[in-house]
Amino acid sequence: MSAVFSVKEVKAKSKYDFGGVLRRSGVDLPPLAVDTLQVNIGKLCNQACRHCHVDASPSRTEKMSPEGIARCLEILQRHPRITRLDITGGAPELHDGFDGFVEKAVALGKHVMVRHNLTVQLDGHPITKASKEYLPRFFAKNRIEVISSLPYYQEFFTDAQRGSGVFQKSMEAMKRLNAVGYGVEGSGLVLNLVYNPVGPYLPAPQASLEADYKRELKAKFGLSFNSLFTITNMPINRFRLHLDKTGQYEAYMEKLLAAFNPAAAAGVMCRSLISVGYDGRIYDCDFNQMLEMDALDRAGKALSIFDFDFDKVLRRPIQFDGHCLGCTAGAGSSCGGVTA
Ligand code: SF4
Ligand code: SF4
Repeated sequence: MSAVFSVKEVKAKSKYDFGGVLRRSGVDLPPLAVDTLQVNIGKLCNQACRHCHVDASPSRTEKMSPEGIARCLEILQRHPRITRLDITGGAPELHDGFDGFVEKAVALGKHVMVRHNLTVQLDGHPITKASKEYLPRFFAKNRIEVISSLPYYQEFFTDAQRGSGVFQKSMEAMKRLNAVGYGVEGSGLVLNLVYNPVGPYLPAPQASLEADYKRELKAKFGLSFNSLFTITNMPINRFRLHLDKTGQYEAYMEKLLAAFNPAAAAGVMCRSLISVGYDGRIYDCDFNQMLEMDALDRAGKALSIFDFDFDKVLRRPIQFDGHCLGCTAGAGSSCGGVTA
């Protein structure tokens, strides 16, 4: 079910007043759990995709310190209710502490996920030129869940969003992951793909798109994977700039607003995870992190991994704003796909 609001109503208080939308829908969204620590260990990436909400690229230098990584591991060790570590970037594999972080979190018994862009396997490190071809074997050895963006199963659309040649490199990287068992039935090694629309529109239904991806990638390239997550493009950073430049921002926001879905809102990911920035600051999600909207405790103090208090984090009021409409439109959107 979706609740449709007139744009005039929602803009009455402030432009795209997400809190007002929630109130009018009778939806309250306190945190339910903190079961996932999503850690952005750096903004360096071998690519510079048009839609990237991190604004990652080969020229970014921000990265988590060894103390920051050690602190995340200590939090994971001390808090059994945090069962999952989700490592992201940039391309997180380009951080020199990445391998150790993964191995130590696995040794703590945590479920580790890595946001892997596929092409880094072939491109290697953009500065040091160190090879990253070992990654499929490393992932398999540690039995981590691999989550990879593939904007479409056709070359033209993928290259349009992520750069020329990205599609062919992605096919080769998937082949190498399949070769060590990822996405292969019975192996227990999970390879999930992420789809996001090329332009300012909502993703197609996840189940049918997953079926299309599976059929096409198998038929044309002999490739397999487990699940497809559809993600809505968030109207922030590089994608927001693109919307502004092309005069599409207002129309996109109004599309998200008209598709507001209370059931999707109930499942937003900030209710069960926290996002950690490279400098140790805590955010309600990766998007708020990119907007530098700190997660706050009930007294309004910014939360950090360096004075971590589980109960304060669990009882925090989530910081919502207009961009949150991207998570609550249609079937909803999160790092794990639809939320409704
Ligand atoms: S691969 Fe991912 S992190 Fe890197 S620029 Fe593209 S979207 Fe951003
Ligand atoms: S953008 Fe972040 S804070 Fe807003 S609804 Fe989505 S996950 Fe929650």
